[in-house]
Amino acid sequence: MAIRTLTVDSVARLGASFVRVTLTGDDLRGFTSTGPADHVKVFFPDPVTGELAVPTMTAEGMKRPEHGNVIARDYTPRTFRPATEDSPAQLELDFVIHGTDAPASTWASSAAPGDTLVVGGPRGSHPAPTGMTRVILGADLSALPAVARWIEMLPDDVEICAFVELEHPSDAGYLDPELVHRANVIWLDGGSGSLERAIRRLGDIGDDTYLWLAGEADALVPVRRYLRRELGLPAKQVKVDGYWRRGEQGRDHHAPIDPSDPED
Ligand SMILES: Cc1cc2nc3c(=O)[nH]c(=O)nc-3n(C[C@H](O)[C@H](O)[C@H](O)COP(=O)(O)OP(=O)(O)OC[C@H]3O[C@@H](n4cnc5c(N)ncnc54)[C@H](O)[C@@H]3O)c2cc1C
Repeated sequence: MAIRTLTVDSVARLGASFVRVTLTGDDLRGFTSTGPADHVKVFFPDPVTGELAVPTMTAEGMKRPEHGNVIARDYTPRTFRPATEDSPAQLELDFVIHGTDAPASTWASSAAPGDTLVVGGPRGSHPAPTGMTRVILGADLSALPAVARWIEMLPDDVEICAFVELEHPSDAGYLDPELVHRANVIWLDGGSGSLERAIRRLGDIGDDTYLWLAGEADALVPVRRYLRRELGLPAKQVKVDGYWRRGEQGRDHHAPIDPSDPED
């Protein structure tokens, strides 16, 4: 996994909840990201000491630093623009701003041009599934950058339906009109159980449909249970990814969202 030291080129507020940070730097040479749900690891300074601890890549693999507390969070590379004759390479990350005791959100809310950000990966890319005629996406704000990538990357002949939980109406502007037009985007109010209700209303789901759902882990547990256990859909047709969990810092999204019923 390449570790890249980048510089903030610009910062923009998008709607009520997002800050878009555009990064640049020679270290973007060789960056590539081809899967809709790709992520990079972003390293943040310790909010208490201000110290930035970053692993290094060695011939034996990744080595933790001798000092400091490594604080890393996963983010979706929303857009990558390779360098051209006229402009340097640029990587855009979109951060949901959500509180104070949160290193990533805190960093993004005060980011300014010239700041440094260290980014690792992506470690690998999983391409969009092939052979499906319909893709259902379900997301809260944290997975909205990935939803945008899914819509951009799916072939034109795949029907898309995206359910997105919003906390503030202005966040609907996050998706460009052509993406909203391409997919059948349905905005949900973000109230408890709204995604589960929307998915249940779809009725029967055939083997021509792939479902990708990501967001707050606890909210996704009943959705996953419905799809995998009630409808009996196989794992290859359903991906449910707990991007964060309420009350938990730096959740590892590889951990099962429902430990009582781990993936099979
Ligand atoms: C593959 C992947 C891709 C992701 N892509 C993005 C992305 O593009 N943009 C993005 O904003 N997030 C994304 N996330 C989610 C992000 O990594 C988490 O939200 C992360 O926990 C934020 O770190 P933090 O330091 O701000 O908060 P933490 O220190 O992890 O958590 C502090 C507190 O804030 C709460 N919290 C964490 N995230 C949120 C949230 N989104 N809303 C409300 N409360 C929250 C926690 O429950 C905890 O109580 C992605 C996650 C994964 C696994």
